[in-house]
Amino acid sequence: MPRPIEALIHTEALAHNLRRARSAAPDAKVWAVVKANAYGHGIERAYAGLQGADGFALLDLNEAERVRALGWRGPILLLEGCFEPRDLELCSRLNLWHTVHCEAQIDMLAAHKTHAPHHVFLKMNSGMNRLGFRPAAYSNAWHRLSGLTQVDSIALMTHLSDADAAEPHAVSTQLATFEAATRDLPGERTLSNSAATLRHAPTDAALRGDWVRPGIMVYGSSPDFPQHSIHDWGLLPTMSLRAQVIATQSLRAGERVGYGSSFTAERDMLLGVIACGYADGYPRVVPNGTPVLVGETRTRIVGRVSMDMITVDLSPVPGAGIGSVATLWGASPGGALLPIDEVAQAGGTIGYELMCALAQRVPTRAV
Ligand SMILES: *Cc1c(COP(=O)(O)O)cnc(C)c1O
Repeated sequence: MPRPIEALIHTEALAHNLRRARSAAPDAKVWAVVKANAYGHGIERAYAGLQGADGFALLDLNEAERVRALGWRGPILLLEGCFEPRDLELCSRLNLWHTVHCEAQIDMLAAHKTHAPHHVFLKMNSGMNRLGFRPAAYSNAWHRLSGLTQVDSIALMTHLSDADAAEPHAVSTQLATFEAATRDLPGERTLSNSAATLRHAPTDAALRGDWVRPGIMVYGSSPDFPQHSIHDWGLLPTMSLRAQVIATQSLRAGERVGYGSSFTAERDMLLGVIACGYADGYPRVVPNGTPVLVGETRTRIVGRVSMDMITVDLSPVPGAGIGSVATLWGASPGGALLPIDEVAQAGGTIGYELMCALAQRVPTRAV
């Protein structure tokens, strides 16, 4: 028997969350962002649930090839654009749309020989200060691109640094910067990630633009947790990490658990050892008390997470023992939910990091 751990990818939940993005921005087209191997879900597994998208946005050329290999003929956008000249040949061959965020990428395009002119997304640095042309340089970059025979059309793009913040000021500042610098430019527009799609797109046509770019919301994690949970946003978990109890220990009050003896039993208790550890992608940093489901019951982690095992309090779980199913995040077999955001918060991180870090060794299947 293989080690009793698995990750389930919920195809219907992916489709549901994607529809939720569409309903937040009904007049916009939707890029399903599938970078980082569909946020750890596996592009091939996630694809079945995401075919309702208008396009797929990602970073790795290898991932773009995989999406084409699945039979997708619609738009694919490279969010960081091309890294070297020969990437443009792949763009020509596979009809990949690509971001242009710096002069060097325009130089590459100017030297590229192609029969089919490219569709590019010109990126503005409107305040995030990672990728993109400064507002003052944007129009020049646009005119340079539009003079190239290699370019067919230019869409206008920026990325928001604070769309998840309760305080909307940073978003409106970036939007105003973008609007001012693109006032005289034609072309489709795209600004919004998940947080902006959920929080701002329903009420702000400028942030809806022509395309929204939801990632994390599609994967059942709330972009502004704990302000809003996935329940608040009407989203469903798309990844469930489950493992079985492989041993139990009856502890007496005062006995300790695991490396560093970081937990001491407050009273006599039943302890369960679960076949999941940090080598599976479960965060080692979570403290005592981090929630976990055993069967349908919410209980807690006690003691330190080790490489291959986690120890949990089975005392509140009726009938628990060897073979009981623990859900580390996602949905239990009976439908109880433990949002990945709660586990991430316990570990001082965000749902994105946990799902992306799901380890290769965890058998994963779509359901
Ligand atoms: C990752 C990414 C997104 C999606 O962001 P989420 O917060 O996951 O919705 C959108 N746009 C760009 C440019 C990105 O890199």
